[in-house]
Amino acid sequence: MAYQLLLATRNRGKIEEFRRILEALAPGEIELLGLDAFPDTHDVIEDGATFTENALKKAREMSLATGIAAIADDSGLCIDALNGDPGIYSARWAGKNKDFRLAIKKVYSKLKKKKKLNKINSARFYCSLAIAFPNGMHKTFSGIVKGKISEKPKGNNGFGYDPIFIPNGYKKTFGEMKASLKDKISHRYKAFNKIKRYFKY
Ligand code: IMP
Repeated sequence: MAYQLLLATRNRGKIEEFRRILEALAPGEIELLGLDAFPDTHDVIEDGATFTENALKKAREMSLATGIAAIADDSGLCIDALNGDPGIYSARWAGKNKDFRLAIKKVYSKLKKKKKLNKINSARFYCSLAIAFPNGMHKTFSGIVKGKISEKPKGNNGFGYDPIFIPNGYKKTFGEMKASLKDKISHRYKAFNKIKRYFKY
């Protein structure tokens, strides 16, 4: 029987992406549940100062609340010309309605204010992954994919800031790439691979 693991998020895009990554790393071994399987759990307040603090807080609270091992990620886009913003505020830039067209507009308008529009804007997606067990044991891992901001949004694949991020070594944005390619180079995949090595499966 597959081992049950909770992914402490209600974001369906993320759950699907993690499921695909896990299936490739450990086929049939892990049943990944999302928070929709535990509707009574509370919303964790992400008030940490770093991606890692937020990921660990989510994993610990949700593992305790559900009684099964929980992984949580905190991830975001860090743009050098914006001093690392939106960073840990990546989700919040999309507002209450999670409108990423709004968040993307904000990125371009801030780059314009800094006179950095249409220049090469280096950026990275960062992912911190935490795993916590009901007995209190926990561990964190991180993954980074470096790249640049595209001159305009391109592609409808993926989610969030995917249409404006071109990973180094590629000409397409994550939004234009097939999921199967993004999965092999993404910040989440890299962090996940570290978990895999940690458990040596
Ligand atoms: P979290 O759910 O608090 O980790 O928020 C992370 C936010 O960062 C997401 O809502 C997205 O806006 C953004 N983000 C993280 N990873 C990706 C990605 O792979 N593609 C696009 N946006 C991402």
